[in-house]
Amino acid sequence: MIVILKPNVDENSEAFQQTWDSLRKLPNIRLQRHSVLGQQQHLTEIYLVGDTSKIHREEIESLPAVERAIRISDEFRILGRHHDNHRITGFNYNGIHFDQDSLHIFAGLCAVDNPKNVEIMMKALQERRLQCTRMGAYKPRTNPYSFQGHGKACLPYVFELAGKYDIKVIAMEVTHEDHVEEIRETLEKTGNPTGVMVQIGTRNTQNFELLKAIGKQSDFPVLLKRGFGITLREFLNAAEYLASEGNDNVIFCLRGMKTAFSDAHRNMVDFPYVPVVKRLTRMPAGVDPSHSVGSREASPDGILDIFHATAQGVIAGANLILVDFHPYPKDALVDGPQALRLEEMDHFLEDIRIVRAAYEKRLELIKE
Ligand code: PEP
Ligand code: MN
Repeated sequence: MIVILKPNVDENSEAFQQTWDSLRKLPNIRLQRHSVLGQQQHLTEIYLVGDTSKIHREEIESLPAVERAIRISDEFRILGRHHDNHRITGFNYNGIHFDQDSLHIFAGLCAVDNPKNVEIMMKALQERRLQCTRMGAYKPRTNPYSFQGHGKACLPYVFELAGKYDIKVIAMEVTHEDHVEEIRETLEKTGNPTGVMVQIGTRNTQNFELLKAIGKQSDFPVLLKRGFGITLREFLNAAEYLASEGNDNVIFCLRGMKTAFSDAHRNMVDFPYVPVVKRLTRMPAGVDPSHSVGSREASPDGILDIFHATAQGVIAGANLILVDFHPYPKDALVDGPQALRLEEMDHFLEDIRIVRAAYEKRLELIKE
């Protein structure tokens, strides 16, 4: 059971103390306190851990600091929605709000190669008023002899250029908890010119020790990719590892599945699950069309498969698009063949605007 306290309740108040004392007296129940920071308010949730079947919800709801109590399933305790449509569905980070209604585009380099290309990319984003990007510094590669990313060495110029072009959030994959420390140190040394959303890639979705380590810090939100060979429930449970350690600023990201039937694309696009993730959890759901499709093939209508896949995510209500661009794809050190070109950016953004407007019309229709 989750007990949701009244907004902004002071933990030194009498109402809080009285509530806490009553809850503490419940037999064989352990209490876990959890803070949820929404756009306007600060909520405290108390988890009653143990057999709560004999506890009456009404009794809990009559305690002075309690707004309401929700019965929850054992799964996705913190991030789950539990049929309650009033739980906070997002978070603020570095001036940007992420929730199940927002849509943010993280266009950028799959892998950072040199300062010149980082600058071209960020300038292009600023010209289009985009404040988020993706920049790969630590690249998990299938082949140990492939370029592994510039790692820590590129962080200073990536962060400084982000500051110069008013980029607020960089999605950056980490494969080891030390990388988070390197990011934190470099941000501090460069005067915190930008923010980082730590990305956990498809190969590490179920690296539980990594998840626990990253869940222990709350400075950086987390973009968690779905493992390419795991069920949706396994994916949501993986995210719960982050939340159960204290970090519930999580965005889910679908990126396609490896199957024997995905021969037309690098992975089988799984974007119809966007609404499912939003129904089962209270956090935003994003899509990565680049790593799903993995090529620049176009259909006879002239539209690139990556554009089509993006549209399929957006029409389903996706909250984030993670997409590879490169100013000179031929020179890209990783995933050049799937990168979109800067000349395509305006077209790509317009395509998203059209589809998002259609999604918003679908929302109006359902409200009528
Ligand atoms: C990436 O986004 O750069 C990446 C490697 O993605 P994934 O983990 O989904 O393969
Ligand atoms: Mn890539």
